[in-house]
Amino acid sequence: MTVSISLASISRARPWRPSKRNSRQRIDPLIEESPALKERVRPARARDSGNTQLSKDFPGGVLVMTGANSAVGLRSMPARYVFLDEVDAYPASVDEEGDPVGLAEARSLTFAHRRKVFLVSTPTIRGVSRIEREYEASDQRRFFVPCPHCGAMQWLKFERLRWEKGKPETAAYHCDACDERIEEHHKPAMLAAGEWRATAEARDARTVGFHLSALYSPPGWKSWADIARDKETATGSDEAERVFRNTVLGETWIETGDAPDWQRIAERREDWPAGTVPAGGLFLTAGADVQKDRIEIDVWAWGRGLESWLVDHVVIEGGPARPEATGYDIEEVDRENAADTARAAEIGLHYRTSPGETQGARATPSRRPHPDKAGDDDGSAAPATETEQE
Ligand SMILES: [Zn+2]
Repeated sequence: MTVSISLASISRARPWRPSKRNSRQRIDPLIEESPALKERVRPARARDSGNTQLSKDFPGGVLVMTGANSAVGLRSMPARYVFLDEVDAYPASVDEEGDPVGLAEARSLTFAHRRKVFLVSTPTIRGVSRIEREYEASDQRRFFVPCPHCGAMQWLKFERLRWEKGKPETAAYHCDACDERIEEHHKPAMLAAGEWRATAEARDARTVGFHLSALYSPPGWKSWADIARDKETATGSDEAERVFRNTVLGETWIETGDAPDWQRIAERREDWPAGTVPAGGLFLTAGADVQKDRIEIDVWAWGRGLESWLVDHVVIEGGPARPEATGYDIEEVDRENAADTARAAEIGLHYRTSPGETQGARATPSRRPHPDKAGDDDGSAAPATETEQE
């Protein structure tokens, strides 16, 4: 911590007004356990020490802790060092004065090139995450470690962690270069021989960014087996997967909205030969999609609870203009459709044929007739969502 090496005022902001408990649990032990800090920062309880729980005096400076939800706290004094903790949890605007990160950064402007602004956070959601935005504008440093087998320097990626399904204790890392198994006990030597390397060019040469996931946790902390176990526990729940990505991998979560998770659907698929009806199929339906140059037909088997199986997929080359493709004389179908349209109009229904080449092969009841246009169906394309102007 800077207190021991530099004389300066430091401002530290957390998402919410810091509680005395937070200071007691996180800052006080830090000072207590660092001899260099302990001899400079006097304990809060000492009389006239100038120190309270949220403000720590030391020779040449002061550490002030404030919350990102208070504009007054954020711009109350100039600070050469600004430390912004958990920035992804900051509000978008504070007391109608704007971005809390901007407010806090402004405090250091007086110090020009000697200032330092340090942002830290667990990332949240892609597109919303401040820390991801900041990291992407930086030189994007990753911690490269050597493979114990081939020596290739690489940064650790979750995709390279492999284990037997249901047995997270078998988890091992696999080298990017030689694909050999790297075990948990290799980690201390790898971490000791590691180094930060930039993986991008920063938009502003003075901005550096560091990313570290739980895959780097030193022995005794979160093991690779623990991470595999966390992943298995989280699978199947978007909320749990999001927490896993954010807190274990340090990656943002991509919101999928209401779209189904393709992976979960893919996991549920079964194998059966084409053209056979699996056990449980009670009846068959077929649907044809008529295109200019071909007709595509799906045959589905249906069981209880609307379970369904695709039994066959047939492509007939040629399209509706060729009787040998459809088995129908298309002009005859058109004549029948015209008769249907007229009959429907008599009872107040309006038939619309589908656009393009599908015309003549399919007719769909779509809307009530317009009083002036009854029976005047030219088959032109009409979007399914069109509403009738009465
Ligand atoms: Zn290797």
